[in-house]
Amino acid sequence: SSTTPVTVQRVFAAGAHDFVAKPIVGPELVTRITNRLERVRLHKALADTDPLTGVANRRRSEELMGQLLHLAARQEQPLSLAVIDLDHFKRVNDEWGHGTGDEVLRRVARLLERSFRAEDVVARWGGEEFVVAMFGMDRDDGVQRIAEVLEVLRGERFDTSGEGPERVTFSGGVAQFPMDGAELQVLYRAADAALYQAKEAGRD
Ligand code: GH3
Ligand code: MG
Ligand code: MG
Repeated sequence: SSTTPVTVQRVFAAGAHDFVAKPIVGPELVTRITNRLERVRLHKALADTDPLTGVANRRRSEELMGQLLHLAARQEQPLSLAVIDLDHFKRVNDEWGHGTGDEVLRRVARLLERSFRAEDVVARWGGEEFVVAMFGMDRDDGVQRIAEVLEVLRGERFDTSGEGPERVTFSGGVAQFPMDGAELQVLYRAADAALYQAKEAGRD
């Protein structure tokens, strides 16, 4: 028989993920496969998601935004890329602690997720910085959408539990494909330069 402990050990040492001995039992094999697929799916979800907020992480969003850019080029549609950075976020942490800071980040992420279309991509790229790709929207459309989101955020209370900042704002920069750049990194730099101007101009 080939199911001696030594053989099984060799099979796993060679890199096998599982070992099924004959005779193969149909339902057992199916369960083994569905379990493995579930694990693969979970692994992929973890690799694609920012653990704090649940939105796409940088790696995954770069793939998705790259695809949207290809689509925009092929269909000759505009696309705008927005960089959103929370204002004076260091103060929130300093004054209320990192737990509250994290909660603010989660709430802002949820607001962003429900503010854009399903085909848009919302991602967290850095500490308190989010990047959004908006398909079919030119720079003016993008700026208007971001301004609407900011208006909603201004109206949200963050101190309902008695612990937290009264209100939170962000500053944003928007760049348009293809006039501000044809590639994601170029668009990002253009949007980030606009963000810098927004910060200089007084934030919020
Ligand atoms: P500005 O308006 O110029 O953007 O000021 P700022 O304070 O937001 O910017 P700065 O870059 O000086 O500070 C960013 C802060 O974000 C510092 C850091 O402690 C905080 N931060 C980054 N990542 C996280 C995080 O995952 N959780 C929490 N709670 N805070 C974070
Ligand atoms: Mg900031
Ligand atoms: Mg920042």
